[in-house]
Amino acid sequence: MAAIDGLPTLAQVIRTHDLVAKKQLGQNFLLDLNLTAKIARAAGDLTQCDVLEVGPGPGGLTRGLLAEGARRVLAVEKDARCLPALAEIAAAYPGQLEVVNADALALDVSAYLTPPVRVVANLPYNIGTELLVRWLSPDEWPPFWQSLTLMFQKEVAQRIVAKPGDKAYGRLALLAQWRTDPRIVLTLPPEAFSPAPKVHSAVVHLTRLEAPRYPANGAMLSRITAMAFNQRRKMLRSSLKAMGPDIEARLEAVGIAPTARAEEISLEKFCALSMGYP
Ligand code: SAM
Repeated sequence: MAAIDGLPTLAQVIRTHDLVAKKQLGQNFLLDLNLTAKIARAAGDLTQCDVLEVGPGPGGLTRGLLAEGARRVLAVEKDARCLPALAEIAAAYPGQLEVVNADALALDVSAYLTPPVRVVANLPYNIGTELLVRWLSPDEWPPFWQSLTLMFQKEVAQRIVAKPGDKAYGRLALLAQWRTDPRIVLTLPPEAFSPAPKVHSAVVHLTRLEAPRYPANGAMLSRITAMAFNQRRKMLRSSLKAMGPDIEARLEAVGIAPTARAEEISLEKFCALSMGYP
């Protein structure tokens, strides 16, 4: 049966174009168009936005984004086998879908996009965290995007939204929560994908804050949290020893017990500590 946009079902698309999933490209396709529509809706109002989609594959999520009224979609796909299927979608939505056959890690997308921009993607798991860290660490804030709506392994999603004391709390939570508001909006079982991955997945929606949640010295925050969480079981007075002989006094000055461990310390306190350094 043809889908609502007049295009073939995704199972048919995959059969017609012989898109046998490749593990090394992190290919786990979503076949349920109701689900891809739900993910597109979780990204917010798309009608006034350019959408950057990384890894459209056979185009299930791309179709969801266009059906939800995205002003324009820029889809960056590394696997040239997917291009004919994506060209069929572009023909059904004239002037709204641009497909670039490239490695998203190597492409400067800014030249292709007009603000406001939302990023929506079912990311290949092998590059998902790397892309997220890049999008969260631009040279200047605010970044080129307004929001990120991204599929991750559930374990990674939990690391993004974790709070002090949670097992998953660490640098990724601090990086994400310093300048965005991240929320898990959907969790999905392995069977939602073809082929099914080994683990559950979750969609995280991150809305950028116009200014950081707390004032901080960004480079120092990154350095301090790297040291603190690389030895997360150690007391901070010892894991942060390399920050100088006065580290205990600096910790106490911002209300952190020198005997505390990284996993107990809030983002606000890490930010305050970073502000003490030039
Ligand atoms: N969006 C599709 C969906 O939801 O069914 C496919 C998602 S699949 C998890 C990841 C997609 O990213 C694949 O189509 C894969 O070829 C593509 N991909 C993998 N590495 C990439 C890279 N470095 N740059 C761009 N696309 C990549």
